Amino acid sequence: DLFYRQLPKVELHAHLNGSVSFSTIEKLVARKPHLNIEHGMTAIRSGQRRTLDECFQVFKVIHQLVDTEEDILMVAKDVIREFAADGVKYLELRSTPRKEKTTGMTKRRYVETVIEAIRQCKNEGVDIEVRFLVAVDRRNGAEVAMETVKLAEDFMLSTDGLVVGLDLSGDPTVGHGRDLLPALQKAKNCGLKLSLHLSEVPSQADESELLLNIPPDRIGHGTYLHPEVGGSQSLVDTVRKHNTPLELCLTSNVKGQTVSSYSQHHFLYWYQMGHPSVICTDDKGVFCTDLSQEYQLAASTFNLSQEDMWTLSQKAIDCTFAPDLKQQLHQKWLELRPTLF
Ligand code: 5GP
Repeated sequence: DLFYRQLPKVELHAHLNGSVSFSTIEKLVARKPHLNIEHGMTAIRSGQRRTLDECFQVFKVIHQLVDTEEDILMVAKDVIREFAADGVKYLELRSTPRKEKTTGMTKRRYVETVIEAIRQCKNEGVDIEVRFLVAVDRRNGAEVAMETVKLAEDFMLSTDGLVVGLDLSGDPTVGHGRDLLPALQKAKNCGLKLSLHLSEVPSQADESELLLNIPPDRIGHGTYLHPEVGGSQSLVDTVRKHNTPLELCLTSNVKGQTVSSYSQHHFLYWYQMGHPSVICTDDKGVFCTDLSQEYQLAASTFNLSQEDMWTLSQKAIDCTFAPDLKQQLHQKWLELRPTLF
């Protein structure tokens, strides 16, 4: 629908390697034909569903395809251009720095290359502001988390504000947040904004309670926080007390089977309460979606008007980790409004 494509949008929850489009995958496959990877192994098409565990297998396949600096640069630039083409005006990308012994890629070079991609897109005049969150994969444990925080801090100080925060992600069934608490607290104390995947699966209430009291600056998914799905009122109260925004990804949660159907998505619970809720893609490549499609899906599922969706996209500006850009983005939204209504 043209309205949703033209609607100016803010994307706050996008994992770099989950956002790789079909056309970029084709270019990567051509670079590495010996891997014998087909598109069915890197994406979950419409109508298909996978368990969350199977989704994490998909990321492993993509990581095999993206293992040099050249790959990272191409992937990041393509992803940024694709979000811009979809009407995203502000993008926060997140990615887990990866070391690849076989190609000599280091974690530092990994981050530097993503930053280079952001700078190149800016110089090429791509109409989008991009910021970066360094991701901690929880499966790698406390020590790696602490190293990653130090790396993120270095980059925050050396990139003129392009690195703005830290993400906690990775398989939610592995490890416990209590072990990562010192690293997360250190990140918070040095000025990195925190976006934490929380209560993505049931039975994480203890961990969520612990991590919500840091408190984080945003929550990824938060699918099982509220009492109706086995969370608790006290978790909800903590989120509300801190007014912590939620990043909500409809297609990702339905295809990954943590939510049973679109109409059952917890977007409605939080939206009806007037709580800051931001619609995001999560992994637009893997889940074969884009942000305009997610907005349209939310509107049709929950019977929201175009005006409602406009307001939702505008309010997302206040949830970004770039305070220096907020005024400029609000101005842009006001300028674009008459072209839509
Ligand atoms: P990358 O960090 O390599 O750019 O993007 C892929 C990684 O993002 C995955 O390996 C995983 O750690 C994380 N990720 C992507 N989607 C999800 C999700 O839905 N839930 C969680 N917990 N992590 C995710």
